[in-house]
Formats: sequence, structure tokens, C-alpha cells
Amino acid sequence: MSTELKVPFSKPSISEEEEKAVLDVIRSGWLTTGNVTLEFEKEFSNFMNSSVVNNNVQSLAVNSNTSGMILAMHACGVKAGTHVITTPYTFVSTAACAKHLGADVVFCDIEKDSYNIDADKIQEILEKNEKTHKYNFTAIVPVHIAGTVCNMKKIMELAKKYNLKVIEDAAHSFPSLTDMGYAGTIGDAGVFSFYATKPLTTAEGGMICAKEPALIKNMQMMRLHGMDRTTWDRYTSPKASWMYDIIAPGYKFNLPDILSALGRVQLKRTQEFYEKRKHIAEIYNREFSKLDFVEIPPDCQGNAWHLYLLRLKLDKLKIDRDDFSKQLQTCGIGISMHFIPLFHFSYWQGLDSSFTKENYPNAEDHFIRTISMPLWPDMTEEMAYMTIDAVKQIGMENYAG
Ligand SMILES: *Cc1c(COP(=O)(O)O)cnc(C)c1O
Repeated sequence: MSTELKVPFSKPSISEEEEKAVLDVIRSGWLTTGNVTLEFEKEFSNFMNSSVVNNNVQSLAVNSNTSGMILAMHACGVKAGTHVITTPYTFVSTAACAKHLGADVVFCDIEKDSYNIDADKIQEILEKNEKTHKYNFTAIVPVHIAGTVCNMKKIMELAKKYNLKVIEDAAHSFPSLTDMGYAGTIGDAGVFSFYATKPLTTAEGGMICAKEPALIKNMQMMRLHGMDRTTWDRYTSPKASWMYDIIAPGYKFNLPDILSALGRVQLKRTQEFYEKRKHIAEIYNREFSKLDFVEIPPDCQGNAWHLYLLRLKLDKLKIDRDDFSKQLQTCGIGISMHFIPLFHFSYWQGLDSSFTKENYPNAEDHFIRTISMPLWPDMTEEMAYMTIDAVKQIGMENYAG
């Protein structure tokens, strides 16, 4: 199916420079985490700390956003008997990480006009809990959907007032620059994803950004078996390489040099990728604004334009989102769905009888009318117009308004 698509949903941009960088590592004899990963971490920190508002973060490379979120939550005290507040409108791993650590999840609905968690509703949950003491909250976990940034000013104020940690799921927000700095550097920890479809890719991978030395030290140690020394240090320092101590039951979440080599080249191309995606998004915005049966995506300062989430106006159409997406695929347009809210999944429904679509009306409303359109750096203008024409044609043929 995907090979027949005229416009693929997503495709990584890999140049000869990425190929050479990976080959150099393969030929060097050192394949796993080492000097190349250390350089990648430094360069990522330099990038994040280069904005006018510099949150002065340090970066830790990991083998996925999911593992980074587990490390960050663990370091922030998420454990059995505690609760985290997050959004049901995310990829499942955001919430599953809290469950891995034995904690429970309290979902907070998204905003009416955006895909991001509603900070006013977080406040309501926290104020109510002051009276009921039902939950033992440790952290707020905002997710910056599609590259638009959550209301971090309000979230940080609430975290301060209620003594909570903030862990940003920054899987979509590379690079989203706000007047509080880059998304992913504002909270106590922020975690990026380098999965194949993300704005910067290492095939699989991720990066944690954090400021507090104790948090960083904990995540560094838990990232590699709970060892008090890194593998690189063990093989390069004059201390005997077999000597180390284990101070906790750690994980195996490190990013190998082969993948970091890919990431370093991708990082250099950040601005190029961003401008190309933004250009396509602007064409989409201009053309889709002319159609009265669709709504263009929410925008904000510093939107990274990772995804283009087109919303159908269902009252203007005789078909639903599923039919519309099927017809797009028949026209050769690759689409995706971001996201199926977590209260639609049997596992999550089984955890809490309040996890229903009625309790999260905004998440449900966005979900039933959203289609994720193709958006990637090397996509041509011609591909964007093929996508627009297909949307136009399907909308006209099924117009009810
Ligand atoms: C992709 C994604 C993740 C998971 O990232 P991995 O690197 O695959 O673990 C988490 N959260 C969101 C919002 C994502 O889109």
C-alpha cells in the first residue's frame, strides 16, 4: 500500500553526510555509546541553550523518548503510591511510563481550541484535590502536540504552588521556541524523540534535557544499569576497566554511537528541515482556509510544525473522518491519526471507570474529526497540491453544507 502512495505520509531526509557519518562510526571499531554520543549531547545542549531565553540545560542521549520519560519520571519521584497529571490526547507511552514505575495516571482534558492539555483544568484538579486529598501528585506531564506549545507559564506556576515536578513530553516540539525558551527546556525535564518520523531522527532514539545536577546524575546512572561509571569512562580512564559499583537497579537505555552519528548531522540541518515543513504548512493553511468543510490546525508562537492536523467540519459533510481518510488513501495520499485518546483503549478503560469519552469532551471532539496530513522536509510543493486537490475533491463529492 505505502509503496503505491503518490504522497507518503512521512519520510526522513537522509543525505550523503548522514551516510558518511554512520559509516565512519562503523569503521572506527567503537559502535556503542562513546565519544560520538558525548559530542551529540554537547551539541544538542548548545542548540537548546543558544536562544535568547537560555534555560541552561544539559542533555542525556537515550534509546527512545519512552525510556527517557521513564528515567525522568523516576528521577522526579514518580513511583507506587503517587499520581501524575497528563493528557489523554497523546501517544500511549507518555502515560504508560508512569504505570511502569507503579504510579497512577489522572487525565486532564485538552483545550477546546487546541490539542494541548488545558492548564485551567489542571488547576481545577489540583484545587479539588486540596480538599479531597484523593491523589498524591508528584508531576505534571504536558505534551506539546504537533509542535504547538502548552501553556507552560501557567503550568510552571501551578507546579511551584503545589510543589510538583514538570516533565515535558517534547516528542513533537523540536524546535519550538517560546519566550520561555525552547519547549523541552522549560520544565524540570523535557524529553525529545528521534523515532523515524520525528523532526530529527536517529531511527530510534531520544534526548533528555534537564538543569538540576542531582536529577541529571540520577538519570545518567539509571540509564546504564545503575553503574557509577559510564562505559566510555571505563574504557578510556586509567582506572581498571572492570572496576565499577552498582548503586541501583538501573535500565539499559543508552544511545549507541552509530545512531548518534546520524543525529549529529540531522541536528545541523534543523533550520533547513523546519523551514521546509513550515513552507508546506503555509501552503496547506492558505489553501485549506478557502474550504468551508475543514478547519486549519491551531498555531502558536514557535510552532515547530511537526504534524499538520486537519480537522473536518462534520456538519458540512455527509461522511465521517474514517470514510474521508479511506478516500484520501485511495487517492494515494498517505495519512495518519494523531492520536487515539487513551480512554479509547481497553487497558486504560479497565484501570478507571472515569476514563470515558464523556469525561474528556474536547479530546473526543478533536479526535473524531482530525486527520494528520503528509508533512516532511523533502515533500515537494507538487505533493502538497496533490494532497490539497484530493481533500477538495472528496469534500465536494460528499458536501452536505
Ligand atoms: C513518538 C512519541 C512518543 C514515543 O517516542 P519513542 O521515541 O518512539 O519512544 C512519545 N510521545 C509522543 C507524543 C510521541 O509522538
